[in-house]
Amino acid sequence: MTTPLLEVDGLTKKFGGLTALNKVTFSIYPGEIVALIGPNGSGKTTLLHNLMGILTPTAGEITFKGQDITGNHPWDIVRRGLVGTFQVVKPFRNLPCIMNVMVASLVTRKKWGEWTKRMETRAMDALEFVGIGDMALERAAVLSHGDLKRLEIARAIATEPALMLLDEPFGGLNPAETELIANSIRRLHKGGRFGRLHSEEISMVIVEHKLADLMRIVDRVIVLNFGEVLTIGSPEMVVNDPKVIKAYIGKEVVFHAS
Ligand code: ADP
Ligand code: MG
Repeated sequence: MTTPLLEVDGLTKKFGGLTALNKVTFSIYPGEIVALIGPNGSGKTTLLHNLMGILTPTAGEITFKGQDITGNHPWDIVRRGLVGTFQVVKPFRNLPCIMNVMVASLVTRKKWGEWTKRMETRAMDALEFVGIGDMALERAAVLSHGDLKRLEIARAIATEPALMLLDEPFGGLNPAETELIANSIRRLHKGGRFGRLHSEEISMVIVEHKLADLMRIVDRVIVLNFGEVLTIGSPEMVVNDPKVIKAYIGKEVVFHAS
């Protein structure tokens, strides 16, 4: 069996008396797209933030490319090839879009010299890839919410990650905008190469409430409920699992495309 790209073992996160994550264990394999779903407050964002180094786990271990990254700084984790986007977009509103992307890829610089030029090219590639290349010189402040979500993804891919964590990439988007981003995600994964950016397949973990859209693009699904892994399986298995349906009862959720 292939070696996992990411191994999460017994990950626990407490906020005072509240256990937001309890002994969460799973692996992500190279080239996989995995959905991370679960009712509101089940711990999805907390899990991603622990993986990104924004939060420090209370217990448990995170291994990425065979190395223990538990409690490492976010920039160190990005440099190793694990990057995430935020549920709430956080652009530098007064900087042009292209600078927003360049700032993100600064973290991964190896040496200066030709670097700035390369970084600019790569930032432009990333913007074109998500479909907002024509907005490169506009301030981020003028972008629509849909375009800001795309900028957020451009910032992540410009760091040339091996594993990308997307927190609600379709959040607040209409169906047409959702389709645009879903297509970028599929292309990013499947093509494996875009512009001068990527030569290898990229793995992804996607948190999303729009399950019908999500189920079309993922290989596996991890379901969280009250901070614990409820089940892990194929999209078909998971959406028909009575445990999962029960966890979602009374919640607004659509499993199947209409
Ligand atoms: P999800 O993304 O699945 O909706 P979250 O990870 O945001 O869930 O939240 C999981 C639980 O942890 C919730 O009960 C939430 O209120 C709590 N929580 C999240 N972040 C914090 C924090 N910084 N401090 C205290 N409690 C938090
Ligand atoms: Mg969340």
